[in-house]
Amino acid sequence: MSAIRTLAELLAAGAADRPAIRAPERPALTYAGLRALTERSIASLNGMGIGRGDRVAIVLPNGPEMAAAFVAIAGGATTAPLNPAYKDEEFEFYLTDLKAKALVVQQGMETPVRAVAARLGVPVLELIPGTAAGEFTLEGGTAASATHPGAAEADDIALVLHTSGTTARPKIVPLTHTNVTASAGNIARTLQLGQADACLNVMPLFHIHGLIAATLASLAGGGAVICTPGFNALRFFGWLDAERPTWYTAVPTMHQAILQRAERNKEIIARAPLRFIRSSSASLPAQAMKDLSVVFGAPVIESYGMTEASHQMCSNPLPPGQQKPGIVGLPAGPEVAIMAENGTILPQGEIGEVVIRGPNVTKGYEANPEANAKAFTNGWFRTGDQGMFDTDGYLMLTGRLKELIKRGGEQVSPLEVDGILSEHPAVAQALTFSIPHPMLGEEVGAAVVLREGMECSERELRDFAARHLADFKVPRKVVFLPEIPKGATGKLMRIGLAEKLGITA
Ligand code: ATP
Ligand code: MG
Repeated sequence: MSAIRTLAELLAAGAADRPAIRAPERPALTYAGLRALTERSIASLNGMGIGRGDRVAIVLPNGPEMAAAFVAIAGGATTAPLNPAYKDEEFEFYLTDLKAKALVVQQGMETPVRAVAARLGVPVLELIPGTAAGEFTLEGGTAASATHPGAAEADDIALVLHTSGTTARPKIVPLTHTNVTASAGNIARTLQLGQADACLNVMPLFHIHGLIAATLASLAGGGAVICTPGFNALRFFGWLDAERPTWYTAVPTMHQAILQRAERNKEIIARAPLRFIRSSSASLPAQAMKDLSVVFGAPVIESYGMTEASHQMCSNPLPPGQQKPGIVGLPAGPEVAIMAENGTILPQGEIGEVVIRGPNVTKGYEANPEANAKAFTNGWFRTGDQGMFDTDGYLMLTGRLKELIKRGGEQVSPLEVDGILSEHPAVAQALTFSIPHPMLGEEVGAAVVLREGMECSERELRDFAARHLADFKVPRKVVFLPEIPKGATGKLMRIGLAEKLGITA
């Protein structure tokens, strides 16, 4: 697997007649089919003047065509998947920022991006789905010859994505063929993926998690990805029953929604067993990890990933090792170290910034020298996350540097407070955040979603927290919400939550 440096090489390793891309109620696309689709796509893009290094923005419904288009277009150009939920101005920003050479839109899909592309003079190519899952043809564009035709090479940019925008305006991250195939290989090795595996993908395919962990890692293992229209807790169990995946990967908020419906779907869970469940992209509360493994009778593998690393950096091994709150596993691909603010690498047991280096790590943000100057130190990429290694070599995350609450002279890790609040029997979900404070700078607040049918007062939760945490960490304010606001990729949004909820100190 280590010799693989391009998507074409990765696809070439798959058995011709094995399914690569599947979707409910559709015949599967085999490896031979996906290879042929890639060849045809390269030829048709080249015939429209699009070749290596050219950006093709794709706006498609989540599903098999989007997974196949990512791989096939990256075979000879650069794929830039965009969130189909964007509005006019966002599409305009991304198409312009990406310098998109063309836009691919699914035939018949109603989206404002067509008008935006027309206004910007970006040619629109219609993607027409075929019979097999993910199969398509591209129509439109004008005949022209590409400057750099043919198959992409290892250092070509395969994928351009933006970060999730959890802590700042999203930054553009270019990822080469080497970056993405290295990461897919890392994940396939961690999860011991093989031909017999099939991942039920519920993650959005405009985010690194769905693209690399669900799709590309499955292909790196020679198995299949089952593409759904996107996460839906009601339909999840139906897909489980009908498609019989061997695993799925999701963000914690999705696992929690699945857990809420697990009881009434017990029979399906029993007859459609999973080999393991993977969680990544945000911290999985300890209770949810326990509940998932009990309910599904399968190990829950937490992984630590980010866009700039083509997803995975650390992961719990399979079978799982230590599972403690905040522990995201062993380095699982790149080198991982802890750095002090001044750039020195810290010894085991000391807290600092998590830094990484390796073939899966981006060479830098696009057109953003300021961000790159801050992000790279002595060849290490600074993740913006804070953590430390424990004595067994497991990485424990203590939070995002930007999300740490600086209350007077003290620092509060919101993750730690979330963990404690989540242990209260009435709490389904907790999100600790910073409230601007005139004297202290910041004060600790928490938003809490209660379990169905449970009650609990603000006072009781604060007393509970005070029994487990130093006083300065205890939330001064607790608000109860029916749901916690999420970003486009399903992440909980801590930053700006106080302002959004109108909470003041
Ligand atoms: P932005 O960089 O624009 O603020 P983002 O960092 O949320 O957005 P992503 O690349 O999708 O964008 O997410 C990577 C981040 O998600 C990591 O840096 C880390 O903070 C968090 N993360 C990922 N996996 C885990 C995990 N298992 N536990 C805790 N946090 C995690
Ligand atoms: Mg980030």
